[in-house]
Amino acid sequence: TLPLLEATGLTRHYLMRRGLFGRPVEVRAVNGVSLALERGRTLGLVGESGCGKSTTGRLVLGLERPDAGGVAFEGQPMPPPGTPAWRALRARMQMVFQDPLGALDRRMSIGAQIAEPLEIHRIGDRPERVAQLLRDVGLRPDQAGRYPHELSGGQRQRAVLARALATEPALLVCDEPISALDVSIQAQVMNLLVELQARLSTAILFVSHDLRAVRQVSHRVAVMYLGRIVEEGEPDAVLHDPAHPYAQALVSAIPHPGRRQRRVLLQGDPPNPADRPSGCAFHPRCPAALPLCAQEDPVLKPRPGDGRRVACHVAQGDLPARKAA
Ligand code: SF4
Ligand code: MG
Repeated sequence: TLPLLEATGLTRHYLMRRGLFGRPVEVRAVNGVSLALERGRTLGLVGESGCGKSTTGRLVLGLERPDAGGVAFEGQPMPPPGTPAWRALRARMQMVFQDPLGALDRRMSIGAQIAEPLEIHRIGDRPERVAQLLRDVGLRPDQAGRYPHELSGGQRQRAVLARALATEPALLVCDEPISALDVSIQAQVMNLLVELQARLSTAILFVSHDLRAVRQVSHRVAVMYLGRIVEEGEPDAVLHDPAHPYAQALVSAIPHPGRRQRRVLLQGDPPNPADRPSGCAFHPRCPAALPLCAQEDPVLKPRPGDGRRVACHVAQGDLPARKAA
């Protein structure tokens, strides 16, 4: 079946000046990302900050224009951002950000803010629909008159979700939706997402650095490093038995009782998108790197027999793994 959303070769670079008199350098925030999302499914997008996962989320929604590549929604190319066709489509795609307070207008009651998209998209019977949306996210209809500062962080993120769901979007991009919440509230909001998805068949792009949360909600997982997807597959495979050396390091950093894999410590500097190494961008930090890795950029491709895609010469079996010393 046709995926709901298909992104191909998404690329986004911008010029950044280092210091007042520095020459501008080209930063490749997103560098050829292809991904697909099915209806009612969640794709978790993980990686360290600066890897391009948030930019990928915005490119997918057309909130930023790609320099190359494109997005198809329900098999049709995404109309140019800002056009009436794009605005009509936007009702079917929503974004939830990390900071619910920043996403809400503090001078408006949450009921009025949830009603706003209903007005813009001319969806009728607003008071009843607002009440239903509040119930859907576990708030009470009589809380519609509350202002953002009168709610807790978890309640505010629920209100943001209610507003995002008002137009019954087919796609929800969630960028670190629980990072600003207390740990005790995070599980509630995660459960809510899973429950709403089951009910509404919403596809979710879940952008997060929290591997546990990603594993809990995702049907597929993609690991990004310096603007590229380096591994993509089922959460059990990618987050329990990663094939790419960077994914291995990322996963090994979370303590996990019963896992036998040792912690992989990364050498070298953290990734800097303004200073992308040659060949495989991970090679200066990679414990498995071979001389060829500094010259040849590995392509993300399916690994025969295990349903995942990996961008690594060694994990692909193109090169012999270096023997452990
Ligand atoms: Fe490491 Fe080479 Fe694989 Fe890159 S291609 S992750 S440097 S082994
Ligand atoms: Mg981010």
